[in-house]
Amino acid sequence: MPSIQNYIDGEWTDSESGDTFETVNPAAPSEVVAAYQESTASDADAAVAAAADAETGWASVPAPERGAILKAAGDVLAERKSELTSQLTREEGKTHAEAGGEVQRAVDIFHYYAQKARDLGGTVKSSSGRRTNLYTREEPVGVTALITPWNYPIAIPAWKIAPALAAGNVVTIKPASLAPGPAVSIVEALDEAGIPDGAINLVTGPGKTVGNAVIGHGRVDAVSFTGSSAVGHQVYDLATDDSKRVQTEMGGKNPTIVADSADVEEAADIVASGAFGVTGQACTAGSRAIVYEDVYDEFVDAIVDRATAIEVGPGDEYDMGPQVSEDELESTLGYIDVAKEEGATLAAGGSAPDGGRFGDGYFVEPTVFSDVSVDHRLAQEEVFGPVLAVLEVDGFEDAIDVANNVNYGLSASILTHDHTEANCFVEETEAGVAKINEKTTGLELHVPFGGFKSSSSETWREQGDAGLDFYTIEKTVYEN
Ligand code: NAP
Repeated sequence: MPSIQNYIDGEWTDSESGDTFETVNPAAPSEVVAAYQESTASDADAAVAAAADAETGWASVPAPERGAILKAAGDVLAERKSELTSQLTREEGKTHAEAGGEVQRAVDIFHYYAQKARDLGGTVKSSSGRRTNLYTREEPVGVTALITPWNYPIAIPAWKIAPALAAGNVVTIKPASLAPGPAVSIVEALDEAGIPDGAINLVTGPGKTVGNAVIGHGRVDAVSFTGSSAVGHQVYDLATDDSKRVQTEMGGKNPTIVADSADVEEAADIVASGAFGVTGQACTAGSRAIVYEDVYDEFVDAIVDRATAIEVGPGDEYDMGPQVSEDELESTLGYIDVAKEEGATLAAGGSAPDGGRFGDGYFVEPTVFSDVSVDHRLAQEEVFGPVLAVLEVDGFEDAIDVANNVNYGLSASILTHDHTEANCFVEETEAGVAKINEKTTGLELHVPFGGFKSSSSETWREQGDAGLDFYTIEKTVYEN
């Protein structure tokens, strides 16, 4: 199988290591999907150096022209949607419906920031000086390093690359090793759209070596990372030690509060979708249901019905795909064992579907634990698989305390028909996204996204206008 190359200074090139690594189909791991470059620190150096050389040239391309290139790249992705959807399913494991939605999101992001490039500028202010023009200009930050996770392998690279380029920055991206293919496809689309050499560069390979080398490179001005909190904190320290601008978007342990005024059947649908959609492998997955005692038993029965009705398997005819890798599957099964040991009640799922009828695919059943206590690991730690913890509370104050009693704060939801309770929830929830009568997952691209506590570095937000702020710096101009 020919290997997919790095993209440095407008050329597709092999790593200087001469080594490659392979990705496999998580639904059928004996099937190799693609081979990529096992890059080294010196490949990372070459990529960042190419970006640095292109910095002035790309920044001086008029913003509407930069936008036109983003628009053309979005069009290329749209033309390739069906192929990219299959690629994403094969490499990362999402169902076709989920993968198609994600590819469309990447297209929409490119089109959105293509338009936004035209709005870049600054503001005109009145001056106390006579005949003085006083204004601000938004300028690019410079050379950026983007490090992305496998769980949204096309949408997340898109929501970093598009605003970075729109604002006139040059980019080196290091995508996740479990699913680099979709990020490569974005670079191919930009190449086809005519982006100048060096403005976008891509290197694949291990985060620990090549990722670190990109982040630590002396010419990098800004680092945008999405991934686990454990790695994100290291990345933050490395980048800030070097006075770089840094954004880290990390994990979640997102609560859905089910109040006694909620329609329990509707609540079970919402919670099931938030907890088990994309196999629970979303940073915003609703992995905790916090349920008022009056409706607790009824809710547990309803959510067990929903979980057991979900058909797990490969391809279009199933509702839920596999976990991305053996390590992720083992990690989820490990949490299931921990929950049992801690005394939670296994109410649904808990193992491979039908004794593993899909051969060696990384499948696990949608799993529900009831009687989970707030101090259980299942209530505190991100599982990143289809495992729901159900906790019982005696009312709103108890519910909000339990919801906030974690070291994460990404997305949080309340299901209630009580307007006052909903308003109190919005005020008191310690999360970057607050939802009322909606699942914790699902984001719109034109509004800010980010979290509190260990979910996010908090200073910066992604998406929408806020997504551009990270990639711009303001200069104030006095002209007499
Ligand atoms: P991860 O293991 O932290 O990896 C993320 C990226 O960092 C990958 O490209 C990885 O490369 C790289 N990396 C790993 N170790 C590194 C190091 N020491 N220095 C520099 N780079 C390093 O996360 P993941 O498993 O890919 O993604 C799942 C996590 O992402 C979950 O915790 C999820 O909640 C979080 N997430 C957050 C958001 C958000 O917006 N808040 C969105 C999606 C996902 P390799 O792949 O080569 O290891």
